[in-house]
Amino acid sequence: MRHTVLIILCILVLFNLSFADCIDDEYYAFSMENLLDFWEYGHSILAASPQKITKTVDGITFTSDYDNGSLEDVSSVGIDEFNCTIYGEPGALGTAKYWFRFKMTGVAGRTITLNIDHSRNPRPVISLDGVTWRRLTAGEAPSLYQIVLAFGPSEDSAELAFFYPFGVAEIYQQVSDIVNTTEHASTQTIGQSFQGRDMWMVTVTDTTVPDTDKHRVWVHSRVHAGEVTATHTVLGILEQITENSPLGELLRRHCIFNIVPLMNIDGVFLGHTRWDSQGFDIERDWCTPVTLPEVLNIKAQVDNFMAGSNPIEVALNLHATQGNYVDTFFFKHVQPSVTTNFEQIQQNYIDAFDNATPLFDNLSPHTSQLHACYFIESYFWNNWGENVMALTHEGHFYRRITDSDWITDEDYRELGREQAAALVEYLNLPGFTNVPDWIFY
Ligand SMILES: [Zn+2]
Repeated sequence: MRHTVLIILCILVLFNLSFADCIDDEYYAFSMENLLDFWEYGHSILAASPQKITKTVDGITFTSDYDNGSLEDVSSVGIDEFNCTIYGEPGALGTAKYWFRFKMTGVAGRTITLNIDHSRNPRPVISLDGVTWRRLTAGEAPSLYQIVLAFGPSEDSAELAFFYPFGVAEIYQQVSDIVNTTEHASTQTIGQSFQGRDMWMVTVTDTTVPDTDKHRVWVHSRVHAGEVTATHTVLGILEQITENSPLGELLRRHCIFNIVPLMNIDGVFLGHTRWDSQGFDIERDWCTPVTLPEVLNIKAQVDNFMAGSNPIEVALNLHATQGNYVDTFFFKHVQPSVTTNFEQIQQNYIDAFDNATPLFDNLSPHTSQLHACYFIESYFWNNWGENVMALTHEGHFYRRITDSDWITDEDYRELGREQAAALVEYLNLPGFTNVPDWIFY
């Protein structure tokens, strides 16, 4: 049996099903490295958070032992030069490795070099105050494997991360801050993660308007732990639909939003790149029987809504990809896995988003055959067909299309705001005319 599995997997590898770009989800297939990890996985127990360290080397204290922190090791290799080892996170589908986030103290007045395999985001981010972040400059990140930082005499601490980071507490604080701005939003706990952390769902709708004829819109974010662009995007959606603007009011009047801002709570806390605390892929647990608590929690909500008087009509699944793409993109599912008509339904939303913002022009379009059962999109399609327009959106960590500068956290907020705004055109909502910030590009 073991040999049969190995032979089949080797054939898959030989036929070029490698994950050269480590593109998200639907292209994440077996490579030889995956194969060996997969083989070992069933025979090993995950070590207890080796990516949470506190270590003082040459007078600098490096720590990743906090919410969302991740660094496996650091050592001195010369005067003011350090080797930093990024955590390779084992999982049932292979090793995932790019997320890092750690703090350094004791750096005042020093110029230090970090040899760091930061996995193809050429410009990680830095914070000197623990609040504001910026991309490293070309001089600070001269190669994919080196970071050079010069600190002033009063700059004794700094934090580095793969991309503008958000840990569990930071996300829930941001969500709470937005929800608390309006009486039209509420938060409920819909269950716990495998490690017992609360899983939130935010509901937003105009509570003074009866629900009759309202469109239900489902959004969930951060299924994969390192894909932090999805958090910036979901916060942008929340901002747009809660704000006191003509557009926000229109969306609330005609829609009920159910938003799960953080799916892989344990993975985000642990500083993982992709998998949950057990090394499983939360994205791929929709084949019967569903077993992971995070998926069971949202499945219960989805099933409940679909049986109610306002079933879900739009479902957005927010992710990011490690590859260098010109534009963010959606996985549009095509026939024969879905109908021609459903291809058009998906395209209508993609086009509406394109019309809503100059930050998206669908310049990196992706299509795929919808898997029989892996994804929540599969679950919607198998049970409700064309009635639910379900799409995965993929952010990336490279450059924005408007001016080719490095894409930022604020860009993803705006992309989120406009994913909500796109619903006006997609759902053909009435009564929206001549509002200054509603500009079609
Ligand atoms: Zn993902």
